[in-house]
Amino acid sequence: MHDHRRLGRELELFDTDPLMGAGLPYWLPAGAVVRHELEEYVRAVEREAGYRHVYSPVLGKRELYETSGHWDHYRDDMFPPMRPGGGGPDDGSDSSASGGPEEIVLRPSLCPHHALIYRSRSRSHRELPLRIAELGGMYRAERSGVLGGLTRVRAIQLNDAHVFCTLDQAVEEARAALELIGRAYADLGIRAARYRLSLPGAGGKYVADPALWRRATALLREVLERAGVAFDEAEGEAAFYGPKIDVQIEDPAGRESTLSTVQVDFHQPERFDLHYVGADGARHRPVMVHRSVLGSVERAVAHLIERHGGAFPVWLAPVQLVVLPVSRAQEDAARELVRRAGAAGLRAELSPADQGTLGARVRAARLVPYQAVIGAREAEADQASLRLRDGRRPGPLPTAALLTRAVHRAAARGTALWDGDA
Ligand SMILES: [Zn+2]
Repeated sequence: MHDHRRLGRELELFDTDPLMGAGLPYWLPAGAVVRHELEEYVRAVEREAGYRHVYSPVLGKRELYETSGHWDHYRDDMFPPMRPGGGGPDDGSDSSASGGPEEIVLRPSLCPHHALIYRSRSRSHRELPLRIAELGGMYRAERSGVLGGLTRVRAIQLNDAHVFCTLDQAVEEARAALELIGRAYADLGIRAARYRLSLPGAGGKYVADPALWRRATALLREVLERAGVAFDEAEGEAAFYGPKIDVQIEDPAGRESTLSTVQVDFHQPERFDLHYVGADGARHRPVMVHRSVLGSVERAVAHLIERHGGAFPVWLAPVQLVVLPVSRAQEDAARELVRRAGAAGLRAELSPADQGTLGARVRAARLVPYQAVIGAREAEADQASLRLRDGRRPGPLPTAALLTRAVHRAAARGTALWDGDA
């Protein structure tokens, strides 16, 4: 069974240091490659789906979260506010609306920033749906006892987006978001364990407005039914401002967690007094659809590590091609192939002959999708004997053809290892 923490250390993907702090992992070069590819992937599919990307700061004034409702409903999960310059009540620093000194918090979510971006100028119905996306940092004050690996962290890189739309557009936007999640799962080789419609539970964690909850829940139920997926309903799992669709994944031990979400929110548009000018010339309130395809980058990579046991799909693999000369005599030819592979956009490495027998070096490279062996005959003919990670041997190939096909597979993303694979 694969544990992402053990593999993460073994494959030098990420690690933690007690001096940096619990729940604050750092990414080593190989892990950083996986993360970078994943982030670029999600940006690309989002662009195609009509999202526009922004950057917003990871900090915000406390009042921002008082407005959004986070301060009332989510404060226990937030880090305490900071006072720049350590300012007290009489130090002449910026006063907040509530009359105290300026207080800054690490953001617990990106929604309020995106609501302000929406509000930064007047919006016409012609601009809707307006899809704002960001891969941005957010923070959660998890207790140190529960922290571990990449799945429970205090600093989170969230793949987030908010669609501002009319009520009529909300079902279609949420449905399209669900479809985007399905497409990403196929490309990443992961599967949804189940879909969950998460509803509010008892207690003060949730915004009190039964009519809004009913409306949003009916809308999400329609999305799930139209998508034709089976789903369960779970009380007490909603966001404080609205119900959500949770796409649940399972780790190898069968433990379930939420990776992707689609939410419908009537609350924050109200709190931020968002509006658009309709075809009738009057002001209308937009709906906010919150959605995350990959969830947090940390959790997504943890799941990918466990799901693939470190044998990532070609496009995500930290090293895609390893070149193994049989003896020192082919080292120049091998080095030249590594250079050409790099120039063609592949992540390639040399496994020199002095690092062990060919068998030992092949075993050491067992997670690398493509292993190109160059013996005397191959060097002579500008060829390489290709072995695939799964044991197949497409045989000796001209190096140019090998590179073309490997580049093609990497660019196509998806989980196929070689041409003709499903
Ligand atoms: Zn949000």
